[in-house]
Parts: sequence; structure tokens; C-alpha cells
Amino acid sequence: MTRIAVRSSSVVSARATSFMRLLLAMVLIAMAPGCAGGVGDPVPPSLPQYAFINGQWFDGEGFRAATWYSVEGRLTKRPPAGLVQTVDLAGLYMVPPFGEAHNHNVEGPWNVQAVARRYLQDGVFYVKNPNDVRDFAQQIKHAINVPTSIDATFAHAGLTGHGGHPAALYEDVLRIGRYEPAVGPIERGWFENRAYVVVETEADVEAKWPMIVSGRPDFLKVYLVHSEDDGKSSETLPDHHRQGLHPELLPGIVARAHAAGLQVTAHVETAADFRQAIRAGVDELAHVPGWLIQRADDAERARLTEEDARLAADHKVRVVTTSVAGQAMPSIGGHHQHGSHAGHGTGQQMKHNALPADAASNVLKDNLQLLLRAGVTVVIGSDHAETSLAEVVHLSTLHLFDNRTLLKMWCEATPAAIFPARRIGKFAEGYEASFLALAGNPIEDFDQVQAIRRRFKQGVPLDGDLMKDAAWSAAGQRSQ
Ligand SMILES: [Zn+2]
Repeated sequence: MTRIAVRSSSVVSARATSFMRLLLAMVLIAMAPGCAGGVGDPVPPSLPQYAFINGQWFDGEGFRAATWYSVEGRLTKRPPAGLVQTVDLAGLYMVPPFGEAHNHNVEGPWNVQAVARRYLQDGVFYVKNPNDVRDFAQQIKHAINVPTSIDATFAHAGLTGHGGHPAALYEDVLRIGRYEPAVGPIERGWFENRAYVVVETEADVEAKWPMIVSGRPDFLKVYLVHSEDDGKSSETLPDHHRQGLHPELLPGIVARAHAAGLQVTAHVETAADFRQAIRAGVDELAHVPGWLIQRADDAERARLTEEDARLAADHKVRVVTTSVAGQAMPSIGGHHQHGSHAGHGTGQQMKHNALPADAASNVLKDNLQLLLRAGVTVVIGSDHAETSLAEVVHLSTLHLFDNRTLLKMWCEATPAAIFPARRIGKFAEGYEASFLALAGNPIEDFDQVQAIRRRFKQGVPLDGDLMKDAAWSAAGQRSQ
């Protein structure tokens, strides 16, 4: 058993003291009526009631004038009894808050406040983390999933094969580049069962299942990596490093997960991975094949057919875009490996993909087009960007979708994919009183998604002190 040694030094205690002061300031701000204080602050038990007047509200097609009320954090069109604060939305354009269906950056106590604030700033209230370090995620429970912060779900440790992705990523790259600077020394091997679980046989799955579900994941993550090569010897595949779960284990794992009430998200790279995952019954694919092109033959292996797209549509599998993820993927010392999962922390030894970016983006683009034509639910996730804003901005440059389609993917389909049981992603009676007020109509001008004038989450205003925190302003606020 090894433990993470948390550094104790005067630097840390000085930081802790100023953190306590900040916390106290936030509590004092939060106690002021009708005003959210800091990110993650508790909200008083009885929320003020609001009347939102003079706003244009997105109805799934366009924008319509309406008056909505917020009562106990829920939307209603019935004027409530008692005291009501009026919020004049002065012709602004209301959209449901955005989602990020694939990112690993909501991960630990050292930066959760800054990460949450950045998401809220970009209007992204819902985040799905499809592989995290279980112990760290458990330390940030208090800071998220409250009205004054983002809401996030976690898979914890994903299932892979012996030597499969992402074991080396955690043990060799992220351990040193990302986690040791944050928490102090970590022994190699510490991440097994915390950030990845190795299963080679049905017996392994059986034996490790209680440990997997004991972490109370919100969903399960599995890794398929070049599953077309599974079982081939290393002699026939001399320079092939990337691998994942044996695909024949997947149907059994999916059945167990579904029986436990867990949806399954599969990491995929090639068209073979895509097919195996869908046939095994997974609910979501964490990538569109073509997102990662590192070798000459990867592009063709990633290319989907019409039949593949129909298979996904028939199985109602959601697919996460991650079109910017490949740009962040490095190759190390000439060997192509999966590198830093966040595009930071190991900068020195990284160099950019030697293959023309066009080859990669063409396959990805063609695949996305096929999926859309087949009616597959496509949701927004960046994997490596700071928030999903970068992903939608990139997708908009591919000219695959009109503005309305892209908006609906971001504010309707993605939040629904992250929290399927919640009433979010549209404005309707009893739905959560969460919205972004934009300066202009994003269907006419998509850039308006960045012109956020007000934010409400579950009946709590998130503007004012929360978004104008000194630390945040110093970091450089986007022009509004
Ligand atoms: Zn990822």
C-alpha cells in the first residue's frame, strides 16, 4: 500500500490561511440576500422567487418573448404568491446552459474552483469526466453539484487490458507531469484501480467488480483501442503500442454495468472499435473515429461506412465529437504514444504529429457527416480543451452544421446526455431555472454564444461577485 504524501510547508499553510480568508469573504457575500458568493458556496435553504421579464427564450426552433418565474429553483409560467424579485432581461436571448460531455479537468481539490469558474464563465454548467482518479474526485464532492458551481459526473477508473491505454499515460506521464506537482510524490503503480482497472479475463471482471462499483461511479468507462489487432502477436505488429480491453469481454461488462444501473461509455479509435462497442451494447462512444491519427494507416482504419452509421443510429448510441482532442495529442521521441491527456504538463518532450492535419480532419469530418445523416445523437465534448467552447468553435469552422443544429447539440443534447434523469436543456414547466442570457441571437450569429450577459443556475444568479472575483479578473476575462 502506498499513500500520497501531501506536502506540508509554510507555503502551503500561508496559502491555506489566505484560502480561509477567501472562504470567509465568500460566506459573507453569500449571506447577502439574492446574491451568490463564491463558486461552490452553499445556497440558503429558501431561494428568492424571480420574475424574468422582457426576455426572448429559445424554444428549440427560435426565440420567443415570454415571462418565466423561478420558484424553488424551478421554472413556471404561473405567477407565484409572495415576494417576487423582477429581473428585466431587456431583450436578451435566453438559452439553456451548455454541456461538456468529455473532459478530465474536473479532477482534484488543487484547481477545482478555478476550473469550475472557467466553465461557468463560458456558460458550461454540466461536465462529464470519463476517467478520473477516484480518490481525488472524492475530495471535490463538496465543491461541485451545487447551484453555485458546475455539475459533474465521474466514471473513475476505466477498464482496460494488461498494458492497455490509459495505464502508461497515468503512471508515466500524468503522474509526473500533472499529479506530483499538485499533491507531492506518488509511487509508480499507485494509479491502478484508482485511475484504471486491468481486466484480462471474465474471472478478473468478476473478482474486481465489487471494487469497481464501491467507488460509486456515475457511469462506467471502457477502452477499446485498435481492437482489430486483438490477439495478434507482437511479431506481426512490430511497432504497434496501443491497446485496450479484449473486445470479447465487453458484452459481459456492459451487462453487469446495466444491471447496476450504470451507463457505459467506450473509448474508441478505429472503425473496428466503433463496431465492437456498439454491438456490445454501450450507451456512448467517447470519440468519433478519426480523432486520433498517428500513423499512416490510422486514417483508413478510422473511416466509418454508411452501415456503421446506421448501426449507431439503430442502437441509439450517442457519439461525442472531441474534434479538438487530436490536436493536443503528441508523439513522444518518435514513438507514437498517447501523451498528456490535457495538453499540459509534459511540454518538453512533446512534438507535434508528423502526419498532415488534413488527413486526420478529413476522416473525422466525413465520419461526423455520416453520423449526422444517419440521425445519430452527436454531443459536444472537447476532451482536452479548457471548456467545450473551444470544441464548438472548432466544429463551427467545419461547416457541417447550421447554427441551430450546433446550438441544440450544445445546450439540449449534451446536458441531457450527462444528466439523463434531470429536467434540464429546455425551458418548460418544472424544469430547472437555469439559463444563459445572450446579447444577440446565436442562430443568426453563432459568436453570440460568447456574449453571455447573465447566468442563472437552479434559481440562483451567478453573476456579480461570483464571476467578478478578483482572482478571475486578474486571469483575464473574455471581453463581453
Ligand atoms: Zn479523454
